[in-house]
Amino acid sequence: MAVFDMLRVDGYEQVNFWYDRPTGLKAIMAIHSTELGPALGGLRFWPYKSEEDALVDVLRLAKGMTYKAAAAGLNLGGGKAVIIGDPKVDKSEALLRAFGRGVASLNGRYITAEDMGTNVWDMDYISLETKFVTGLTTAKGGSGDPSPMTAFGVFTGMRACCNQVWESSSIRGKRVAIQGTGHVGQHLARYIVREGGSVVATDVSTESLTALKNELGIDTVAPDDIYGVDCDIFAPCAIGAVINDNTIDQLKCKIIAGAANNQLAEERHGDLLHERGILYAPDYVINAGGLLNVYEELHGYNRERAMQKVGQLMEAMTRIVEKSKAENIPTYQAADHVAERRMQLIREVKRTYLNRN
Ligand code: NAD
Repeated sequence: MAVFDMLRVDGYEQVNFWYDRPTGLKAIMAIHSTELGPALGGLRFWPYKSEEDALVDVLRLAKGMTYKAAAAGLNLGGGKAVIIGDPKVDKSEALLRAFGRGVASLNGRYITAEDMGTNVWDMDYISLETKFVTGLTTAKGGSGDPSPMTAFGVFTGMRACCNQVWESSSIRGKRVAIQGTGHVGQHLARYIVREGGSVVATDVSTESLTALKNELGIDTVAPDDIYGVDCDIFAPCAIGAVINDNTIDQLKCKIIAGAANNQLAEERHGDLLHERGILYAPDYVINAGGLLNVYEELHGYNRERAMQKVGQLMEAMTRIVEKSKAENIPTYQAADHVAERRMQLIREVKRTYLNRN
């Protein structure tokens, strides 16, 4: 598809290709929407096979950020950036600073943060060139690693789902199957065990899994067995597309609530979960804790205030599940409608205001 056709279909505002000859930087910054505020979204550093793959990915991710910010009630739009390259080989201070100059050139329409292949120290380098960057180290006045807040948000959203299914938001006595004991998964496991729930977990890397088993006394299973374990809640915290034709029949849970992005292989899998009475917590709603956290950096970071904001995911999730029930639509659709409705209202308000002045 031609580039402008790609932008037209989903209404992207702007795409910038940023090249720096001395460092070889090849970056793409995509702004899907600034309707609710500046477009905030992470920087992914990835060895894409082609420039087209990178463009498709950054566009998809930027649109996802619009919906995530809108559903979370943030005054932010959606954007994302990618750097084409292998972070282990190509990353350098000079290259990150060159990217920072690219962000600066957009004058605040796009604000960057970390994503796959980048970290808080990279954001510190970028901040040497632009103020439009979040997710800095705490030493630089930032919020540091976002994973604990993402895990707290997932735990909060999970409790909202429990309330809908069992009329109690307590995790006590609930068995949670966690797929992926990386940054988010392990913090989530700690919240669950601390609140009296039990955990059965898996990971393709035995290192983090064994460490967590020794720390919390949780059960573990092989990666392929996680879908079929007896549990109340399944928490995907590893990779996307895990709810698919091969896994959906194995599930014994009543709730799916985890941090991973794009959990549904296709939308029809969300329809199937709805038909089967499995409550799916839409991924971009339940994993918004990291975004809510870095958003707080824009007003001077305060951890307590950030936790309060992340705690509000309980209400956001409740609203979406109640809408799904009331209208008998899958939760992923209810979340999209909530995000789209908010954008539409703001659009109408702006139009009315502009007509009046
Ligand atoms: P991570 O890389 O630290 O952890 C992921 C873990 O999943 C790793 O331990 C990895 O070995 C394991 N894994 C990979 N494939 C697996 C498989 N097939 N089966 C079992 N385990 C597997 O990542 P993270 O920061 O913990 O993020 C987890 C997920 O949540 C990702 O999808 C990420 O995009 C999403 N997410 C994270 C944040 C955040 O703040 N870190 C925010 C929003 C969304």
